[in-house]
Amino acid sequence: MRHLKTVFLLLILLLAGGCASGFPTPQEAGMVPVAANLYAEPGIDDAGRANLIQSVSAARELVGNAFGGVETNPVIYACATNDCYARVGGSHGLAAQALDDRILLSPYGLNKHFLAHEWVHAELYARMKPAAWQAVPQWFNEGLAVTISQEPEHSESFLQSMLDAGLPVPRPEDVYALRSLSQWGNAIGFHEKQQLVLGVRSDGNPLYAAAGQAVRPWFLRVGRAGLNDLIRRMNAGQPFDVAYQATGAGQY
Ligand SMILES: [Zn+2]
Repeated sequence: MRHLKTVFLLLILLLAGGCASGFPTPQEAGMVPVAANLYAEPGIDDAGRANLIQSVSAARELVGNAFGGVETNPVIYACATNDCYARVGGSHGLAAQALDDRILLSPYGLNKHFLAHEWVHAELYARMKPAAWQAVPQWFNEGLAVTISQEPEHSESFLQSMLDAGLPVPRPEDVYALRSLSQWGNAIGFHEKQQLVLGVRSDGNPLYAAAGQAVRPWFLRVGRAGLNDLIRRMNAGQPFDVAYQATGAGQY
């Protein structure tokens, strides 16, 4: 069997909501400042640091264009090694994570797409009341992040390549059923296993791509006005399904 060196892009949001995280500060983790709120493992060279600065700027633009501004200012930890990623609180197997007011980038997540993906989670979280945030289905949260971050690993063409490889690709109704974080996590695990069993080498997971495909047409149609309308409606107490359909999602 072919050796698989798959980096599964599990981009699960773990925002603890203001709890003291207990994670090390950048200084405690031995990281060096690169720019405001951007820290890197010392092993990242000048070219890598310049690239990081560009990535932050590009990610901020993607998020800002989508939401009509950026309200969050996360502290970004960029790691060149797995050891660094574990030290700053990153979970094994995750390319990037949003934790509290921090975004952690693993060696596999050092680009604008991963950064923007996590930033979308953080931005949505910051703009929603706690009860509204809790009511956001995970498929939408991930699909929005995939859409706005324009991750090539989770594009429509990626999804097609998975179909061509004979992988089970989730149907829309399968995606919509994944509302809780645990449902989402279980489904991610299932698709990872399918890739292993069928020996399909990939940098992405069809579930993320399918979630992106579920959200992308809506977002392209309604844009930032629709996104902000959804947030406003949910903050006013509307259930997600009611608010989403009212913004133009229609039946789904
Ligand atoms: Zn995510």
